Amino acid sequence: MESVSVVTRDGGSVEFSGDSLQEFAAGLGGSLVTRSSADYEEVRAVWNAMIETRPALIARCADAADAQRCVRFADSNDLLFSIRGAGHNIAGSGLVEGGLTIDLSGMRNVEVDTESRTAVIQPGATLGDVDAATLAQGLALPVGINSTTGIAGLTLGGGFGWLSRKFGLTIDSLISANVVTAGGEMITASETENADLFWGLRGGGGNFGVVTSFTFGLYPVGPDLLCGLVVHPFSAGPDALRYYREFTSNCPDELTVWMVLRDAPPLPFLPEEVHGTKVVIFAFVYAGDPAEGERLLEPLRSYGTPHGEHVGVMPFADFQQAFDPLLTPGARNYWKSHNFNSIEDGLVTEILSAVETLPSPQSEIFIAQVGGAAARLPIDSTAYPHRDTAFVMNVHTRWEDASDDGKCIDWARGFFDATAPFSTGGVYVNFVSDAADAARVQAAYGSSYPRLQKLKAKYDPDNVFRTNLNVRP
Ligand SMILES: Cc1cc2nc3c(=O)[nH]c(=O)nc-3n(C[C@H](O)[C@H](O)[C@H](O)COP(=O)(O)OP(=O)(O)OC[C@H]3O[C@@H](n4cnc5c(N)ncnc54)[C@H](O)[C@@H]3O)c2cc1C
Repeated sequence: MESVSVVTRDGGSVEFSGDSLQEFAAGLGGSLVTRSSADYEEVRAVWNAMIETRPALIARCADAADAQRCVRFADSNDLLFSIRGAGHNIAGSGLVEGGLTIDLSGMRNVEVDTESRTAVIQPGATLGDVDAATLAQGLALPVGINSTTGIAGLTLGGGFGWLSRKFGLTIDSLISANVVTAGGEMITASETENADLFWGLRGGGGNFGVVTSFTFGLYPVGPDLLCGLVVHPFSAGPDALRYYREFTSNCPDELTVWMVLRDAPPLPFLPEEVHGTKVVIFAFVYAGDPAEGERLLEPLRSYGTPHGEHVGVMPFADFQQAFDPLLTPGARNYWKSHNFNSIEDGLVTEILSAVETLPSPQSEIFIAQVGGAAARLPIDSTAYPHRDTAFVMNVHTRWEDASDDGKCIDWARGFFDATAPFSTGGVYVNFVSDAADAARVQAAYGSSYPRLQKLKAKYDPDNVFRTNLNVRP
């Protein structure tokens, strides 16, 4: 192994000889990758191709003991390091320029206990791994809507998707987490052990330690549910958005309806001439008896004159992958996001005018209906501070060619500014594109920030876990 220079927390660097790196690597159950390793680019790549961050060292952990070795190695050398789960974060915070990346993406085991209805999940698991293991047993964890997303980053930020109105956020199912602390100790956080840390892990991101396993409670679900998409022409826009507002104001917890505005993908149930034209899509899941879902969704399905629909009782595990083709890894992505309490008329006008000028065929505006069970826990019960939000809007600006960066980013920022007056001022921590934007960090942690700072001062006073949306001790 050749010598490697690694960035330290004070901005300097440490030069490691090949022998000392060999010794560190030999102590790992996994492997150590450097910039000159043949598989470096493949190992380094994350979901968002905009992220060009190049760690000096990537430690591919095989188990919790590896994560502990890495934290201790970083600590004894003052190294700047990052923690990587499945590498899905839009800001690319799983990587660190010139530092050490503690890469957990190989640790993907999901162990389901059907008797206790719990799952022990390793931090590199994707939502696809989780759904495959749980739904095969007729059980589910409420997670997000894209199967390649990592469970670790998602959970530490809060986590919501099709089942969260019925069963709460992903963190609301968390029973305990095993954590390597800043000092390299392995501890457990739960309601009864290190309860303050347990509070902070549920929304405070990767600020407090490396989580090496999560234990979750599961719920009986499906495995088949009534799910689907109804696609309307863009000309229905103003009325369709107001209809969406009215319809979602009366949904029981079992029913979740999201809205997507974009150019129509080549979906087989749409006439060919509709492909590539602007559309308004209602996407929904009924997490209960399909017959009751049919009854409740009847008005939505008979509203207006849609281009087409794909609705039916289907394996929920399949619907969990319905959006995957639109969200594949490797494209350039820039997101902007706001939380809303309502969809005001002025917001409808701004959304429709932004859709008219979408900067690329892959870009879209996503509106997620949240609330329900997630909104009924007290706000200070976990560090996630946005339980009272009704809708989360995420603007997925997405394109292929770097020469379009300026155009696409400007469009997203312009739309973000235009819709800011309608927002709560809050934002979901996992949807922030720029980890260095201090105002968005404050908006993400909201009312929890002062308590998170106190917790940071207790568990990580030197801020060794800093390559994230950082809480400063
Ligand atoms: C296409 C797409 C769709 C999405 N859909 C949803 C959705 O429906 N619902 C939703 O809630 N979110 C959604 N997200 C956001 C998602 O929750 C975040 O991107 C999340 O950060 C992904 O986690 P990861 O482990 O893959 O991230 P990584 O990039 O691997 O890590 C991100 C950060 O999380 C922290 N982290 C990761 N693992 C650990 C660990 N083991 N211990 C401590 N800290 C750790 C670190 O700070 C790290 O920097 C989506 C993201 C994408 C790209």
